[in-house]
Amino acid sequence: MKLCRYDDDRLGLVDGDTIVDVTPALDLLPKRRWPYPLGDALIEHLAAVRDAVERIAPDAARIPLSGAALRSPVANASKIIGAPANYRAHVDEAKRDAGIHHGVHDRGYDPESPIAKLGLFLKATSSVVGPAEGVTIHAPDRRNDHEVEICAVIGVRCRDVPASQALDMVAGYCLGLDMTVRGAEDRSFRKSPDSYTLLGPWLVTADEMPMLDDLAFGLRVNGEARQAARAADMTVGLPHLIELASRTYTLHPGDVIMTGTPEGVGPVVAGDTIEAWCDGIGSFTTVVRGSERPSPA
Ligand code: MN
Repeated sequence: MKLCRYDDDRLGLVDGDTIVDVTPALDLLPKRRWPYPLGDALIEHLAAVRDAVERIAPDAARIPLSGAALRSPVANASKIIGAPANYRAHVDEAKRDAGIHHGVHDRGYDPESPIAKLGLFLKATSSVVGPAEGVTIHAPDRRNDHEVEICAVIGVRCRDVPASQALDMVAGYCLGLDMTVRGAEDRSFRKSPDSYTLLGPWLVTADEMPMLDDLAFGLRVNGEARQAARAADMTVGLPHLIELASRTYTLHPGDVIMTGTPEGVGPVVAGDTIEAWCDGIGSFTTVVRGSERPSPA
């Protein structure tokens, strides 16, 4: 099942090039009082939501996919977890290009296991947007790069998950842009401006997702291919990323694991159009906007 969030927080079932409006399925989510539990209520109750979607869909209204404003499929992630330097060829390009590494990628780690040295990183949840909002350039006087990544959305609260059971914790998958201001500051700072985590186009539930290792994915800017890779080229695979993350943090429903970017990262500027695609997920197109705000110091 492909579930999208669109327009004014409507829930859609994606069926080819149409969206079935299954918003009433959200009525079963619990009415909660402060303090709210961490995590995303829709993802936490995904099994019940799916049952309701299947009941509602046959008689529901349809709209063309092209007419929908797609939002992030995850509304309330408690954490966005990033995997640094997780594709060998991206590590190589980063070491060659000072415009990428700024000394950050040049610490002599073992290229076979950079995450063993670097660990994982977090992006601010306030940075999350969907394809309809687009990316707003934060620091126009610096290099702002696209990083296309396959993202897993955690479905259940969990801790200390062994890699052998890790994929059972995944509710579904989407694509992500881990937008990045290049520079020497901490990753969490450079990758967390508003709109620098773009998720879309929808959630593909885990039962409909092909084996990750079989998937190709990539990104085009203004129609020009910039990134193209296979998920099988990931250095630390998703099960071990989940094992590592859950040894440090309790994972909550809706937490997003961004699995790292392959080679071909590069700058975008206001006015550019980004298209991201992945076998088994689909694609989205989004625009890069300029900011009215002054560039940060
Ligand atoms: Mn990244």
